[in-house]
Amino acid sequence: MSEEIIVLNPATGQEIDRVKKESKADIDKKIEKAHETFKKFKKKNPHDRSALLTEWSKLIGEHKEEIAELITKENGKPLQESRGEVDYARSYVDYYAEEAKRVYGRTIPPHEDDVRMVVTKQPIGVVAAITPWNFPIAMMARKAAPAVAAGCTFLVKPASATPLSAMKFLDLALEAGFDEGVVQYVTASGKDAGEAFTESDKVMKITFTGSTAVGKSLMEGAASTVKNITMELGGHAPLVVHKDADIDMAVEQAIASKFRNSGQTCVCANRFYVHEDIADAFSKKFADASKKLKMGNGLDEDVAIGPMINEDGYDKVMRHINDAEEKGGKILTGGKGSKDEGYFIEPTVITGATDEMVIMNEETFGPVAPIQTFSTLDEAIEKANDTEYGLAAYFFTESYRDGIKLQEGLDFGVLGWNNGKPSAAQIPFGGLKESGMGREGGPEGIEPYLETKITSMRV
Ligand code: NAP
Repeated sequence: MSEEIIVLNPATGQEIDRVKKESKADIDKKIEKAHETFKKFKKKNPHDRSALLTEWSKLIGEHKEEIAELITKENGKPLQESRGEVDYARSYVDYYAEEAKRVYGRTIPPHEDDVRMVVTKQPIGVVAAITPWNFPIAMMARKAAPAVAAGCTFLVKPASATPLSAMKFLDLALEAGFDEGVVQYVTASGKDAGEAFTESDKVMKITFTGSTAVGKSLMEGAASTVKNITMELGGHAPLVVHKDADIDMAVEQAIASKFRNSGQTCVCANRFYVHEDIADAFSKKFADASKKLKMGNGLDEDVAIGPMINEDGYDKVMRHINDAEEKGGKILTGGKGSKDEGYFIEPTVITGATDEMVIMNEETFGPVAPIQTFSTLDEAIEKANDTEYGLAAYFFTESYRDGIKLQEGLDFGVLGWNNGKPSAAQIPFGGLKESGMGREGGPEGIEPYLETKITSMRV
């Protein structure tokens, strides 16, 4: 009997469905199919690829509610957020439907009279993706859409916690008219998929979104065949509130950044640095707003905070809260968790955070906001940068000069200035340092799926 992946609802602990756990041999067959299909698909006219993406987008819109419900059931996030994720994922399909038609080469003035030089772009080949559970369709869409727009064939291994919404999302691509070998999913363990993808000489590119530890192991594996890689890895985002910030705006945007998906996003603010002059006012307003967020099963329309994805996630967040409390942090609101039914942790705000606390040094992936004060902007920038991560950072100031100082001084790939939700399909997204390499989104987001050729012609 073949093995199965059991998909659970993290809000109830109940089983939702089971999917076949594919073996490495199954994955190899799919890679072979992608490889064969690529020979034909790479020749498909870009306008036709664009039309297929447009049709896919239309179907995503028609099935929005169904996909959103699946996301909420398997991931736990509130239904409003799941609907937002469907729109967000769809925006990548729309964007790359356009970009498919704009893969330009160039001609270069030669240094010899009878020579002509041209640069052309072509699809890289079979692309293998591995994606996380926190945005089960959006993290996949921003890989799948540019890959097929470029003319590549695409395989994805969704996270085992959340395969159902990803499978539905890709089934719609087939319904839109893409050939079966153009987009495929594999439902397997991360280890098996990682090995099959990295060992295959038919896979030309690995694109991964997930933890830095797994990213590093995939980079090692990809080295054996010198594969092209894109890595979207972990984060530990600082959020700086300067003394002249609009406090109400900072609170509203900090809530959006911190508590989306119950704090289980790679870009969510993980540590707060607030100027000492306004720290009490900000902390109180932020704690009051956090307290109002209703926790529960994401299928209830008024719920704003869903569960942690699983027991490991829950235990890690509670460890961070307990450590902060033991080291002198004061809990202004929240602090409690329950795993009797599902894995719930209250939105938590902690003041008096210090550099020694684990939460100020590790990615938490939960609804906890530790607040530390600062007196000078230089001190805030130095502390914000004191991490191996470099994905997202947020800052709040009404001063143009201080804003530019923060914008230039912070070593992060995604910056939100007075903005807690900075990402969009039309702009590049990605991290510095151990948060990854390569960019997704914007015109940069299709480049990783293209090879550059030069032809020097004597005429
Ligand atoms: P994860 O444990 O790294 O898992 C991500 C994916 O990798 C899953 O599909 C998982 O499969 C697979 N995987 C696990 N072990 C593997 C291995 N040895 N080889 C190959 N693949 C393997 O991360 P996660 O807990 O799902 O996601 C949270 C992390 O992702 C956080 O660190 C977060 O910051 C990061 N993230 C980054 C971005 C970004 O854009 N930079 C966006 C979202 C999330 P299984 O599920 O089957 O184990």
